[in-house]
Amino acid sequence: MGWNVSAEVIAFIIVLVISVYSRQSHAVPSPKNRVFRLCLATTLGAIGTNLASTLMIAYAPLELLPLTYLVTLCYFVLTPLLGTVYFYYAVAVVGEARPVGRAFVLASGVPCAAYFLLVLANVPTGCLFSFDAAGVYMQGPLIIATYLVFYFYCVACFALVVFTRAPIDPVIKRILAVFPLIAVGVIAVQQLFPTYLLSGSAAACSLLTIYLYLQNKRLSVDQLTGASNRQEFLSMVSLMDEKGQPFTAVLVSLSNFKFINDKFGHENGDRFLREFAAYLGTVGEARLYRYSGDQFALIASCDGAGGNHDEAAATATLIAPLQKRLEEPWRIGGHSCTVGAAIGAVSYPAIARTPGDVVAALEYATVESRKLEPNTPCVCTPEMMGAIHRRNAIADVVRRAAEQDGFTLNLQPIWSESARRFVAAEALCRLTDDELGPIPPDEFIPIAEQIGVISDVTRFMLERACAFVRSYRDAHPSTTFHGVSVNFSAVQFIQDDLAESVLAVVARHGIPASCLRVEVTESAIIANPEAVRAFMEKMHAQGVRFYLDDFGTGYSNLSTLLELPFDVVKLDKSILRSVTEDEHLVEFFALLASGFGVLGTQALSEGVETPEQRAFLGRCGCDLMQGYLFSRPLPPEEAAAAIAASEGRGEE
Ligand code: C2E
Ligand code: CA
Ligand code: CA
Repeated sequence: MGWNVSAEVIAFIIVLVISVYSRQSHAVPSPKNRVFRLCLATTLGAIGTNLASTLMIAYAPLELLPLTYLVTLCYFVLTPLLGTVYFYYAVAVVGEARPVGRAFVLASGVPCAAYFLLVLANVPTGCLFSFDAAGVYMQGPLIIATYLVFYFYCVACFALVVFTRAPIDPVIKRILAVFPLIAVGVIAVQQLFPTYLLSGSAAACSLLTIYLYLQNKRLSVDQLTGASNRQEFLSMVSLMDEKGQPFTAVLVSLSNFKFINDKFGHENGDRFLREFAAYLGTVGEARLYRYSGDQFALIASCDGAGGNHDEAAATATLIAPLQKRLEEPWRIGGHSCTVGAAIGAVSYPAIARTPGDVVAALEYATVESRKLEPNTPCVCTPEMMGAIHRRNAIADVVRRAAEQDGFTLNLQPIWSESARRFVAAEALCRLTDDELGPIPPDEFIPIAEQIGVISDVTRFMLERACAFVRSYRDAHPSTTFHGVSVNFSAVQFIQDDLAESVLAVVARHGIPASCLRVEVTESAIIANPEAVRAFMEKMHAQGVRFYLDDFGTGYSNLSTLLELPFDVVKLDKSILRSVTEDEHLVEFFALLASGFGVLGTQALSEGVETPEQRAFLGRCGCDLMQGYLFSRPLPPEEAAAAIAASEGRGEE
């Protein structure tokens, strides 16, 4: 029989090229990557033995027949095995998205094992192939088994990928489903035209597809620095977690990289990053990852000794040399420049117990490190880990509450000393969780801002506050109660149609816009001056009033007050406390309160807790007061009753 081997030779070269290109010394030794290397080795072996056996059958002298037999036997083992290793590659990919049961992995090897026994049985029986006395190759009666086992694994691979519920990227799913079909097609052609050797081509096509889409170095390596990328970092952490291998992870976040880019140009910025990465690659015996633009992560395996030992070892081998290097200048574009960094570290499993913990702890510790002296590391402690867990738990509760309107409104009435009744109220948000209990707003509001649901909080508060005003005015038609103030956060002023959407809520509830007051802090104004100004002007024109919140807590700047139309300035409770503790400040406080009057702005004192404080404020001419002395924040019905009682009419 004349064999056509040219397709096999080309396939062999292609697979060889892929093997060379996909070699990656620092690749994560994940099951997927390991099975891919097995696919490469099996494919090379299968094509190699196919070529060797074909050529030997055709040209080797009779004396070499035992060798020809052996090579052919290897070919018979390796070629159907191709289907098996590709199937296991698909299993590994699926397993990354959702763990695959051990029993499934073992059970799916049964046909392969049975086929292997058949190959062994071939030696005495010739059931797959044999050579006659003249050295002529003859197919055995069970030769079909080689095709069947190959088809079986291709179909199994297809079914696994199509029917799995694991969350796999649809593109990857399509690739994994299509390559076994191509392989089946090619092998079917070979079955029809046995003189054309095509099994190698089928395998090379599959490998090439996998390589291009799933195993390409570009998918895992950062092109600029040559370090592995963030995805690889996450895979490595998951892998170490699966194996229970202790390690220490360090996140290095450059502090002034933007400055380098601005000052020395992007090209030099890139050069510096390459140099910095090259330096980090030499620190300790750690794997290096580019975590984000100007953040690098290191992972160092530990020998398994627990807790403090790991941290001490990590500090000694990873962080200490880095700190020392950071004190020295770098050469950047012919200039010499020192570069600072924030450094966060955590050990697994002593402190962080899951991959999610590792990432959260690193990011948290890096943020904490930034608050310390430059280049001072922050090593995550159990207390910090506890704080992170609480924060994450609160974030979940807040997210759920935002979806389901799970907040509640409390109102704290605001007292006017001259009117001797409650004239307004502040809307304060409350959140209670079955497990965590009541969560203070000082804790959940910043989290709501960070996770991007603060506008849901404000919308909820606005709705309920307007509904309160509406029902109070309906129940007390001749009331002189002015209205409710709602707290707005700095981050929400970036919303373009904020004014329109707020006014729409007010209009929907059929209350005058003057019944709504917006509380803004100075820090919010500083964060977004133009947006706040535009918002205030639009809203003010419609009659909405503005309260400047937390005056006296750091940012206070009189020009803000002069430039923006504030109706009321809320003096932070800390001011009142320090004033009443220090008699020298009494006069100053009196001047401050009357000074606001001159500007056409009323002063409101927060945190009034004692009759002495109230008397003091009275002497200073501060008319508006808010605090526990008058009323705690109350649920709407109780607040309505308190306000009505102060108006001297009780519930009508
Ligand atoms: P804030 O805007 O300064 O609100 C006043 C805080 O002082 C409230 O705390 C109130 O309960 C408390 N307070 C009132 N009277 C007294 C007193 O006599 N003594 C003392 N020690 N405290 C008093 P709360 O309700 O825990 O809220 C804390 C902060 O959370 C608020 O400070 C505000 O910044 C934020 N917050 C509350 N609700 C919302 C909301 O709906 N949206 C936004 N963006 N922030 C909110
Ligand atoms: Ca407030
Ligand atoms: Ca305040």
